[in-house]
Amino acid sequence: MRVTLSFDNGPTPGITERVLDELKARGIKATFFTVGARLLSAEGQALARRAKAEGHRIGNHTYSHTVPLGRCVSGEAAVNEIRMTEALIGDLAEPVPLFRPFGGGGNITPDLLHRDAAGHLAETGYSCVLWNSIPRDFNDPQGWVERGLDQCRGQDWTLTVLHDLPVGCADRLGEFLDRLGAEGAEFVQDFPPNCLPLQRGKAQPMFAAIVRNGDLGDRPCRRP
Ligand SMILES: [Zn+2]
Repeated sequence: MRVTLSFDNGPTPGITERVLDELKARGIKATFFTVGARLLSAEGQALARRAKAEGHRIGNHTYSHTVPLGRCVSGEAAVNEIRMTEALIGDLAEPVPLFRPFGGGGNITPDLLHRDAAGHLAETGYSCVLWNSIPRDFNDPQGWVERGLDQCRGQDWTLTVLHDLPVGCADRLGEFLDRLGAEGAEFVQDFPPNCLPLQRGKAQPMFAAIVRNGDLGDRPCRRP
């Protein structure tokens, strides 16, 4: 059983440190999909730098994380959500930059990407990183561990989504990692290929399923 860990929506001062400590104590490398607006502060930047220095990967998880990019009012707004975060990640980016969309309740739907955002990711050579496990730590910060373990047991290579948020995985992450380790899990930093609909800018067959062709026109990308 292989397990790849990812932590979304941070960095969060006071929380991301705890996640980094748990990983460091066990020598596990992960990926942090950061929200651009959370990289504006000196604390946010310092946490991202610490994560990178400790061997973790830093990815792009939109600037504001408010409206899924497939539901943005315009392609320009959707692309800006990626670009602004790209600029804030700066030299912490991977050689092949990483993007994770959000929305659709964790399901694979065209809500995840506007066509123009998809075009930007492809042109810029991104890998787009989905998931195959969401234990829902963000709405069950104490009870998610059993679900997370079950999802890992049920497949050969799990890419799990956790959150370095105040309501998230931090309280029970150490226990989760120790129980996985006791069951023989091998922690790897690479991603299962079937979770990568875009690989180094190259669209895989499943990419079309997460791209909306055209404007839905119902909401701006950022709340006014
Ligand atoms: Zn998210």
